[in-house]
Amino acid sequence: MAVIAGNWKMHMGVADTRAFFAALTLQEGAGGNELLIFPPAVSLGAAATCPERDPRIQLGAQNIHWQDGGAFTGETSAAMACEAGASHVLVGHSERRHVFGETNEEVALKVAAGCRHGLVPVVCVGETLSERQDGRVDEVILAQLDAALEVLDGDDQRFMVAYEPVWAIGTGETATPDDAANAHRTLRTRLEAVLGIAAAVRTPILYGGSVKPANAAELLSASEVDGVLVGGASLDPQSFAEIAATGR
Ligand code: PEP
Repeated sequence: MAVIAGNWKMHMGVADTRAFFAALTLQEGAGGNELLIFPPAVSLGAAATCPERDPRIQLGAQNIHWQDGGAFTGETSAAMACEAGASHVLVGHSERRHVFGETNEEVALKVAAGCRHGLVPVVCVGETLSERQDGRVDEVILAQLDAALEVLDGDDQRFMVAYEPVWAIGTGETATPDDAANAHRTLRTRLEAVLGIAAAVRTPILYGGSVKPANAAELLSASEVDGVLVGGASLDPQSFAEIAATGR
């Protein structure tokens, strides 16, 4: 069983969302995987109520605010995301961190808000190219993970981690299966130390960064890789269907 998640970023309005689910045919093999799509907030409701969406595809928000409501123009609360049909939420995606300046502390507040409202947080971590060149991969991703772990609501809180090296997102560059396995082992070891072995084993760690049908199987066969978070290639129903049918 693998987790196959699609992050649509700022693509796919309501009409495109409906057209995607109408065109998507899940192949044999997808049934054994946990499937997730993260549409933009304005398309969540349309995705949730779209009669053509295969109910095996769960939905998530790409971002939430940590407050439950108030004067925060342009933001979406965890409760609103739930009401619109989300069961999961991406937290700390690298575009949130590096384009919008989100800090580890803000990411932690969002994880806490997601947990309060019963959303499964998918905590994204990953180093920039210069951090990698400086040999700081473990330091960076562990600091990002630690901030999120501090606010988890007990050891049985369901969540996922997505390792997404920033230099591999939307660039066509992909981490090698060995790079991914090393980072995932580092993250799993920290989960074991903080949450215990049972929780660490049941917490999926996804790889993200230029995953496409041609490389999904190789990345999913890497040690410690429990799933993939797919950006660009999740926008096309055919390529998402191919990745969704890839097993581990
Ligand atoms: C992402 O958006 O999380 C991502 C990994 O994008 P891409 O697959 O396009 O690199």
